[in-house]
Amino acid sequence: MRVDPLCVRCGMGAETINHMLFECPPALQAWAIAPIPTPPQVFPTDALYSNMAHLFWNLPDNEDLVMYPWLLWYIWKARNYKVFSNDDYNPQDVMESAVTEARAWAAVQTLNQKMTLPKICYKYNPEDKILNF
Ligand SMILES: [Zn+2]
Repeated sequence: MRVDPLCVRCGMGAETINHMLFECPPALQAWAIAPIPTPPQVFPTDALYSNMAHLFWNLPDNEDLVMYPWLLWYIWKARNYKVFSNDDYNPQDVMESAVTEARAWAAVQTLNQKMTLPKICYKYNPEDKILNF
């Protein structure tokens, strides 16, 4: 079985993980319109580990920036839609899907925190309760 080494989305480079996630023009556009900082010469680069290090450790502590795992995921999914269905997803749709999913995840985390009993409830012992009549 022959495997085409060229990127199916742009045809301009070998389809490495770094190319697909960070260097392919549609991926670059998605990063450019995302809230993730993209300082020149720092991110994205031609080095996968540098790019991942930037995302994991260099981003400011800001809840708007925690959407990057979903952006990686939706860039990957856009690549797969192209490979398996020949569908093109534009970078704006990719970014909006990532933001939507990140917000849904955050909402569930908030809901889970609300449903969790406060720690004091676990310490409650009815026999400790003093009733004065
Ligand atoms: Zn490409």
